[in-house]
Amino acid sequence: MELSTNIESIKGVGEKTSKLYNKLGIYDVSGLLKHIPRKYEDYSHVQKVATLTPGNVTIKAKISSVHSRYSRGGIHITEAIASDNTASVGVIWFNQPYRAKSLRHNVEYFISGKFDFGGNRLSLRNPSAELVSDLSVNSGRILPVYPETKGLSSKQIRKHLANIFALKPKIKETLPDIVCQQNNLISSADAYKQLHRPSSISEIDESRYRLGFEEIFELSIASQSARKEVARADAPKIEIDLNITDQFIKQLPFKLTNAQRKTAWQIYQDISQSKPMNRLLEGDVGSGKTVVAAMASMLTLNQGYQVIFLAPTEILARQHTETFYELLDGVGFQNQITLLVGSMSKKQKEDIKKDVKSALKPRLIIGTHALLQDKIEYQDIGLVITDEQHRFGVNQRRHLLSKTNISPHMLSMTATPIPRSLALTVFGELDVSIINEKPQGRKKVTTQLIKPTDRLKLYQDIYKKIKSTTCQAYVVCPVISPGDTIFIKSVEKVHQELSTLLKGLKIEVLHGKMTGEDKAAIMKKFIKGKVDILISTTVIEVGVNVPNANIMVIESADRFGLAQLHQLRGRIGRGNEQGECYLLTENEPTRRIRAIKSTNDGFKLAELDLELRGAGAIYGTRQHGILDLRVANFSDAKLIAAASRAAKQFMDDPKNLVQYPYIKERIKQLQSVVHLN
Ligand code: ADP
Ligand code: MG
Repeated sequence: MELSTNIESIKGVGEKTSKLYNKLGIYDVSGLLKHIPRKYEDYSHVQKVATLTPGNVTIKAKISSVHSRYSRGGIHITEAIASDNTASVGVIWFNQPYRAKSLRHNVEYFISGKFDFGGNRLSLRNPSAELVSDLSVNSGRILPVYPETKGLSSKQIRKHLANIFALKPKIKETLPDIVCQQNNLISSADAYKQLHRPSSISEIDESRYRLGFEEIFELSIASQSARKEVARADAPKIEIDLNITDQFIKQLPFKLTNAQRKTAWQIYQDISQSKPMNRLLEGDVGSGKTVVAAMASMLTLNQGYQVIFLAPTEILARQHTETFYELLDGVGFQNQITLLVGSMSKKQKEDIKKDVKSALKPRLIIGTHALLQDKIEYQDIGLVITDEQHRFGVNQRRHLLSKTNISPHMLSMTATPIPRSLALTVFGELDVSIINEKPQGRKKVTTQLIKPTDRLKLYQDIYKKIKSTTCQAYVVCPVISPGDTIFIKSVEKVHQELSTLLKGLKIEVLHGKMTGEDKAAIMKKFIKGKVDILISTTVIEVGVNVPNANIMVIESADRFGLAQLHQLRGRIGRGNEQGECYLLTENEPTRRIRAIKSTNDGFKLAELDLELRGAGAIYGTRQHGILDLRVANFSDAKLIAAASRAAKQFMDDPKNLVQYPYIKERIKQLQSVVHLN
């Protein structure tokens, strides 16, 4: 069977199922083979109920006494008893209302999950349950669990994969043999077989190591070849002008922190060289990265070069434009600044593009990724700044180069610390500046966890507060519209609820499905204080700055990542008032939720996030589609070191790329995910 065979040709996959696969991004056999299991359930070690001790366990038992209820905290609970011939044990599921209906009495299940204390008795909490009769004898007892979609279960996916393997798929080797030998890696073919049909845990480990190695190896190679290309180019030398710097600092309404001075100076040093800067400016939310970016921009403009500032959203682009006007007004550069975003009128956009092309004014262009589109002809770009995103890759850079002959300096700003391993591998050799202190006098944001039953009271308190002061509130929901699960709060639902509950307040919504214009209009109203409560999705996540907005309610907080929650919380407490953040959760607070309550230190939280979920999660790569790390985990330092070393060795000998053309092909494909900045 060929890997390019359409998914619909697999035995058991019809038109309907193939559409579901498409939804998961799977179109052919190869795609399905690369569908990495989320986890495995190990039914190879079945324990007797009478001998269970706390931890992860698997039992083979019959289920009885199933019933459902709501807890006092408003959580849906399904309880049951599982018994084998030695003893009985309680089983409990939270917020899985379908369980009660799907469980069958008097048939045997493999039940696998955490055996732990809840209240004060031991029970199996949120376990999986598989009918024993569904596990065919020869399928092995370790079952992969896949990312699923409604209508397509892991059970079906396993069956389809079994059908593929029965036809001996032609899985080619994709790593140079010498690399496999030197690093004790199993072949591609074995790796996929062991990934989907492991006969032991160690086979899974072997497979994951091999596939993770390959992933990092390829990224390293692509990143190294990108770096080589950059190193060959010349950047403009930006003269360090201390007079204008003094003038700038003097007119600021605050004193720069030491960390801001230090990082600005590092950037100054870099851009005064003819080697292109490639620097990451890390600083927690609210640490004041924008001022530092403004200083670098000022110096570049001062030498007559253009500056491009890329923001992740239009809202932020607009806000940054206003901030830059204010900051650069005192040094006379305010009329060199322009915003260029998709929602402007055609005429407006054309005029700006003409100006940009003529290189007269404006020289500092702020916008979203639309700034990298074809029809804009930049003149000498001296500096490219990206805020809160890491999507500036080789292709984008080439695009800018084709307009000018010089290579711009690159500055990327983020509130999420990048682990060293990541900086080296995926981002090439990136220099890092860290703003490790916050401006003085900032009040801390308090964070409270709110039970579903206290939700009403919370909103009533907020109502009183808004009525009696000038403060405004954000309410953030994970989704726009109500979906399949009643437990996830949506922007639309909450808007409905609050409109009736909090009569007399001005409530607006903001989300990604609105047009850029509508979003900008709402945001403007909110900034001006004409909206009391803004209900939104994470579109407000990064960088938005409204000093009067001191309250943030995060609905269904357990649906957000740690870094995301921290980013969101960073939106409040920006003025001189204390910020209040409320996390509403559907379930008992997870470790993540407890962590966010316990500290305001973004770097600590990022480390914890890395530990809990791996780097893919930190960078929200899945959501943003930047870097799809499927197997490897960036906290696995050993694997990364070995794979990057192998990549370096491979690249050191130019003959290798000739000998292994498919690697050369891969480098080309990966150029859009390898980051220069
Ligand atoms: P972030 O690092 O999250 O992008 P910003 O650059 O948006 O942070 O800065 C947050 C707020 O702090 C802004 O209102 C900014 O004017 C203010 N600010 C920046 N630097 C200082 C400082 N040294 N002292 C006081 N306030 C500052
Ligand atoms: Mg910012």
